[in-house]
Amino acid sequence: MPRSRTAVARPVIAIAGLGIESSTFSPARTGAPAFHPLRGEDVLTRYPFLAPRTPLREAAEWHGALVGKALPGGTVTAAAFAELSDELVERLADLPRPDGLWYDIHGAMTVEGIDDAEAVLLARVRATVGPEVIVSTSMDLHGNVSRELAHMSDLITCYRMAPHEDHLETKERAARNLVNLLTTGAPRPLKAWIPVPVLLAGEQTSTRIEPARSVYAAVEEVEATDGVLDAAIWVGYAWADEPRNRAAVLVTGPSAPAVTAGAERLARGFWEARRAFAFVAPTGSLDECLDEALASSADARPYFVSDTGDNPTAGGAGDVTWGLQRVLARPEFKDPSGPVVIYASVPGPDAVEVAEKAGVGATVTVTAGAEVDDRHAGPLTMTGVVHAVRHGDRDAGTEVVLRVGSVHVILTRLRKPYHHEHDFTDLALDPRGADVVIVKIGYLEPELFDMSEGWKLALTPGGVDQDLVRLGHRRIRRPMFPFDPDMTEPDLTARLIAPSNEPLTGEDD
Ligand SMILES: [Zn+2]
Repeated sequence: MPRSRTAVARPVIAIAGLGIESSTFSPARTGAPAFHPLRGEDVLTRYPFLAPRTPLREAAEWHGALVGKALPGGTVTAAAFAELSDELVERLADLPRPDGLWYDIHGAMTVEGIDDAEAVLLARVRATVGPEVIVSTSMDLHGNVSRELAHMSDLITCYRMAPHEDHLETKERAARNLVNLLTTGAPRPLKAWIPVPVLLAGEQTSTRIEPARSVYAAVEEVEATDGVLDAAIWVGYAWADEPRNRAAVLVTGPSAPAVTAGAERLARGFWEARRAFAFVAPTGSLDECLDEALASSADARPYFVSDTGDNPTAGGAGDVTWGLQRVLARPEFKDPSGPVVIYASVPGPDAVEVAEKAGVGATVTVTAGAEVDDRHAGPLTMTGVVHAVRHGDRDAGTEVVLRVGSVHVILTRLRKPYHHEHDFTDLALDPRGADVVIVKIGYLEPELFDMSEGWKLALTPGGVDQDLVRLGHRRIRRPMFPFDPDMTEPDLTARLIAPSNEPLTGEDD
């Protein structure tokens, strides 16, 4: 039986973590500044549920060490990881000795030369705060849960919605469960972990549609069971190539039979649905998608096309020009009076500077893109009329719109995801009035989804190619679905992971 612990009336809780999903299939590299680290008490400003005088804030003495969050990108450099980890651990050591630690991560950080970076960092955190501190880990459902990460965490959970409309709710649950465990002195929860040998593209697992909707609905049912504290299913991250990359289930709680049964139910549900996971929208080549958009009726406009292979919010470099080149080559778009097309986006600092200097209304010839990822197409030269210039965007810095034929091309100084209606209207663009809106994205974010009357996913090349089997994974465990479609039934029995203050026993499989 797990031993009870001493209840702490108002526990001291430290907050630390680094969050990014980074693609090993993108030539881009991520440095330390991309994490926009917050330090000390500034860390608390990230979380509305920890605002002053909120119940959760009052329930504990919270101390931020360092929390960094980066846009998805390429592999994190070894130097950036070392620099941020060193500072995080030093700051942690300077804090009052914590009773608990909230480890706020994404779970798909790939670092040059290091496997399972989040577990490596947590081991350093553990070495600093000691084995008795209770750690609650919160993650993205596209993160990966190795046995080591599960071992060093006492509580561990992730989002239950994709798109992640519950991201704050999840973090709050992780923080609240930690407070409850500390203030009641309840024993460390038992942890039933099951790796599931499936690797799927995020765009196949939207919880808006089946089968993910039902698979994830079961999470809350399991959580509501007696003897269970929390339950989670990780889809895992498909665009990195480490042995830890796969789906996983973890259920925590005080009862071994309850967490075991709950985890096995969720793992079986995920495994059995594996062949039913389909893309959230019809797919095709980019030209097929454009053909369909142009053939669609007036009430199917605006017709959205996701240029998925270079999606910056999944880890694409963002500067692949392959898609835009195909769009500009279409005869239908050569004339300014052709169908109104918006293309978002390609970074090109030099192009932005030229357009900015020339000013709105000027005709310019510029070259943009393929500075980072030139594997699929080279830098793209185009001549067009400057339609808009905007300064001061947090991600892009400066944005310009260049009208080339009937295509409104958004060019940025730095890469930026286009997720909101105002991202377009701020640039004097009217996406609702457009015929075709092409965005480097996977599933449409809520505002774009609501706006779209038609939608297709173009399976384009790039660092986050949605056609996983053609990417060339070498180091993931095999067999794995869909790489080995006819593999035999995997072992989906729950593994009870040793408490964090006892050694990890057994072998990984
Ligand atoms: Zn995610």
